Amino acid sequence: MVIIRGATTIASDCKEEVQKSVGELLEQIVIRNGLKPNEMVSIVFSNTSDIHSYYPAKAAREAGFESCSLFSVQEPDIDGGLPLCIRVMLFVEKNLVPKHVYLRGAKVLRKDLSGKINIAIDGPAGSGKSTVAKRLAQDYKILYLDTGAMYRACALAILRAGADVADEEKVCEVMGDVSLSVEYLDGVQHTFLDGEDVSDAIREPPVSMAASTVSKHRSVRIKMVEKQREIASKMSCVLDGRDIGTFVLPEADVKFYLTATPEVRAKRRYDELVANGHTVDFEELKENIVNRDKQDMNRDFAPLKRADDAILVDTSDLTIDEVVATLKQHIQERI
Ligand code: C5P
Repeated sequence: MVIIRGATTIASDCKEEVQKSVGELLEQIVIRNGLKPNEMVSIVFSNTSDIHSYYPAKAAREAGFESCSLFSVQEPDIDGGLPLCIRVMLFVEKNLVPKHVYLRGAKVLRKDLSGKINIAIDGPAGSGKSTVAKRLAQDYKILYLDTGAMYRACALAILRAGADVADEEKVCEVMGDVSLSVEYLDGVQHTFLDGEDVSDAIREPPVSMAASTVSKHRSVRIKMVEKQREIASKMSCVLDGRDIGTFVLPEADVKFYLTATPEVRAKRRYDELVANGHTVDFEELKENIVNRDKQDMNRDFAPLKRADDAILVDTSDLTIDEVVATLKQHIQERI
């Protein structure tokens, strides 16, 4: 007896989605393993506890799998688990090396089988990109690449050298002498300048505007984008930034553009900075954010812009959980 495994996700908890996804999953298992009806002995499904609308086993029966035994069970509710997921084990009486099948959002469960997934999230400062990107990366167990941290590290290097961030020639000179790297410690991104971990230093408020000015320089961007593409070409990741969907990874599997009103974005940054012990003036912070976005949107090379195929999500009135759920739904519909 050989066991073939598989999984898929559904876009929403309704009978039609269960029928469609189960039919598609079983069809792919049959095709990829060259199965005949009499070789299938039994099919066992499990589904996450957020699926109540229909039994996968019933959907399989309706899809024509009538000659084998069918069984469905519900999984316990696991924190951070993949939502709206249906798993299957197909017991077959055939001598074969099984080809397991993972479809839609469930591809993230077996990245070894499904290939790489790159998710691009762009948007202005404070739109929620990094919080949401971190959550997605955690839930899908893939890497989170914070590309803004790289431009911030460049800016910090220039500020420390006492140079003018607007002077491209000087910036190149300083950056030529500095080594900038991104490493992952316990799954968390750390940014290093000449071996020093500057992950906290790059979050200081003066670095934000300086990063925006440094990132206008074409030569700086080319170097950073090269590093970002290299990381994304090797592994599944969620990248957040300003130009991911338009320039860094125009072929990303799913693209989002997050936005929110300037008031909401400034309030989020304000709360974050105050929580980290900074004293800030709200109006000044709001003005800085608006000016930074203006500069990011109006630069000549790879400006902040929504890609034509990016999904627009206004996060102004949504909680983080709601934004994450919205993005997951789109991801699961697309991959
Ligand atoms: O996202 P974060 O606020 O850390 O980014 C800091 C600055 O880096 C942005 O204002 C933007 O000018 C620049 N940036 C960029 N392209 C990216 C990421 C960030 O130009 N992909």
